[in-house]
Formats: sequence, structure tokens, C-alpha cells
Amino acid sequence: MSNYKIDTLCLQAGYKPENGQPRVLPIYQSTTYKYDSSEHLGKLFDLEAPGHMYTRISNPTFEAVEEKISALEGGVGAMLTSSGQAASLMAVLNITGAGQNIISLSSIYGGTINLFAVTLKKIGIDVRFITPDMTDEEIEAKMDENTRMIFGETIANPALTVLDMERYSALAHRHNIPMVVDNTFATPVLCRPFEYGVDIVTHSTTKYMDGHATVVGGCIVDSGNFDWSKGNFPELTTPDESYHGVVYTENFGKAAYITKARVQLMRDFGSTPSPMSVFLLDHGLTTLALRMERHSSNALKVAQFLESDDRIASVSYPGLESDSQHALAKKYLPKGCSGVISFEVKGGRDAAMKFMDSMKLAAIVVHVADARTCVLHPASTTHRQLTDRQLVEAGISAGLIRLSVGIENVDDIIADIKQALDQI
Ligand SMILES: *Cc1c(COP(=O)(O)O)cnc(C)c1O
Repeated sequence: MSNYKIDTLCLQAGYKPENGQPRVLPIYQSTTYKYDSSEHLGKLFDLEAPGHMYTRISNPTFEAVEEKISALEGGVGAMLTSSGQAASLMAVLNITGAGQNIISLSSIYGGTINLFAVTLKKIGIDVRFITPDMTDEEIEAKMDENTRMIFGETIANPALTVLDMERYSALAHRHNIPMVVDNTFATPVLCRPFEYGVDIVTHSTTKYMDGHATVVGGCIVDSGNFDWSKGNFPELTTPDESYHGVVYTENFGKAAYITKARVQLMRDFGSTPSPMSVFLLDHGLTTLALRMERHSSNALKVAQFLESDDRIASVSYPGLESDSQHALAKKYLPKGCSGVISFEVKGGRDAAMKFMDSMKLAAIVVHVADARTCVLHPASTTHRQLTDRQLVEAGISAGLIRLSVGIENVDDIIADIKQALDQI
């Protein structure tokens, strides 16, 4: 299966019906599983036999979609979560505890900034933010023996900076810590971070993976490439007393990290999706490759139009040759840069509001990466809780508009933007 191209995997990876079984992935709407003997169930509880115990931890519908996403990213295993936030949280907590810290790029999703800067801090985890202009030495000055990972986003939401994954992965590996990347905006169709040394990938599947704005969800994918025994990760390399002394690296090898996330954190936190949501996610995934192509080609044309219009103060889209991120985009996103564009209309916040209110095809929503074109004003919505300084660090100005270009006919999208600009 892994030899197939990514567009084929979007349709065919994961669920494999046998003779006479349903062609389409069934929704296993069951919390519970039945066993022939209590001895077998005991083995499941001791992690000695594979199988499902309880839907909080695993379910056959989830398993098929986890296999699909893992195949798309080229990993050894994946775990679905109830939201992208839960995926980010568990990706950190799986190897980070009170008294420890992580390094994160500052231009990331606003919800992740709140999680990192406020909530993790309350439970004793210090997140040290860095910017791309910092040298390796300046970043190393923020690291110590308690640093557990470096975190960033492939294409940052909404700053649209492109992460130099090879650089940060090499830096992380020099300190025997993993590189963790939120690949939500790029999706594995446009970029597969594991090919650039990244160790763990997270997703908000709510965005392009679902693609139709129907279900909130998240996912963590393990590359299986990080050598936990080289670093200082006793939670993976020494016995887990809650499972009678299981040692994740010994019992599960390359899948140590993702297995621990499931049997320990998902068991304890219970941020489980529902079988119906996962079925809808799988539906979305079948067309992901086609949609990402169209989102990317439409967005490039829209960005080029915006750049040519003198009512626009600035446009950020990594696919534009004039964009500060273009060199990184050519390296990491050769197939396209997704559908998300950030731009400022001349006239600041008021003009931005008037422009957005005048759009007819594009809807104002708190969402992004939807098949339908939509717009959002980050400073007053998704990033509202950020301080002015955090806004600047996240690359967001008061007049910034985030446009999520859909898969409609691009001429209609551009015509809508033109008429809205005329209203300012
Ligand atoms: C939306 C988003 C999240 C959070 O995901 P939810 O599914 O909304 O919880 C995390 N990272 C990025 C890049 C996002 O766009």
C-alpha cells in the first residue's frame, strides 16, 4: 500500500474490506467489544495482545482512518483525537511534565498560543517562544536539560510563514529531542514533514482533512524515527507501573511514542472522537488530494490578483514569487501552498471590516480550510485573546484579513473580491 502515490492513498489506504464485507468503512457505533474468555481480555489490559477494549482507547472505525492518515504522512502509527487542540495538548504531555519546558515558534495558531502560554504554564510547563530570525545560538540559549521538543507549524496560521523544518529538526536532534510539527494547513498532500527530519506530526483534521466544515477532530502521527533511548525520556524507556511494568520502547519499538499516547494519555484524558465523526473525516480524506490541488491553484490566482490591485496594502501567500516565504515554499511546498491567503486592505481595521461585510460569495465564519471560500478577521476573533505584543509576534496586524480560498470557480471568487473592494 505504501508504494502507491498519495492521491491513491487518500482513497485506498486504511479500510480493507474482505470478501462480502461492506465496500465503505462501517461506522462501528459501539463502546464495547465481546470476548470469548476473560483470559483474553486480561491480556488486552496488560497490552500483551492487540485488540479493542473500549472505544475511549480504540475502535475499528478509528483504526482504519488512523491507518490512512499514517500512510499519508509516511508514519508508523497515528491516533485520532476529539479536536486539534487535544492533539496538540497530548503531543506535548506525552513527553513533557511539570518542571520541564518546550521551545515553540511564536507564529502559530492562536488557540495553540493560549494552550502553550497560559494553560500549560499553569500546570508547570514552560513554553519558550522563538522567531525564525533567531540564530541557532540564540535558540540554544533558551534550551536546557529539561527541554523536551521544538514545535512549529508547516504553514503558520495565519502568519503564513513556512517552517524551515530541516533546520529546526537538525537543531532538535543535536540536543536529542524530537521536532514536532503541526501540519494542518499543508496536509500530507502538499508536504510530508517526516521527509525533512520531523519526528511527530499533529493535525487539526477539522480543516482541510475534513474539508467540508462538518466535524471537529485532530490527529497525532508518529514517524517512528526518533531514538528515545538516545535522549532523556524515562517515560518511554523505563517501566510504566500503570501497565505492570510495560516499557514502551521495548514492547512497541518504533511505535513507542504513539502507543504510549493512546494507552496512557487517551485512557486518562478521554479526548476521543465519535465513530460518526471519524466516518465523516474519512469521507473528506478521500478527496483531499484533489481539493488541495484546486485550493492551491485558486489561491495563487487570487493572491496574484490581490497583488496587482492598488487598493491592497499587502498580501502574504507563500506561493507568490514576491513573498518573503517563497524560497522556503519552493523547497517544502512544491505542489502548492494551500488555500489560505492573508492580506491587508488600505484603510486599516475599518476598511477591512467594510470589505468583509461586502463579500457575497465568501462567508464570514470562524473557520478556515473549507471547500467554500470564507473570510475571517484574526485580530478580533481567533487571536482576540492575544496581547498586542503576541499579535505582532504571531505576525497579525489590526487590518489583516485571512481569506480561505475555496474550490469554487476562481473567476467567481475574484469577481466577489472586486465588488467588495469597490464598496470600501
Ligand atoms: C484549528 C487549528 C488547530 C486547533 O484545532 P481544532 O480542531 O479547532 O481544535 C490547531 N492548529 C492549527 C494550525 C489550526 O488551524
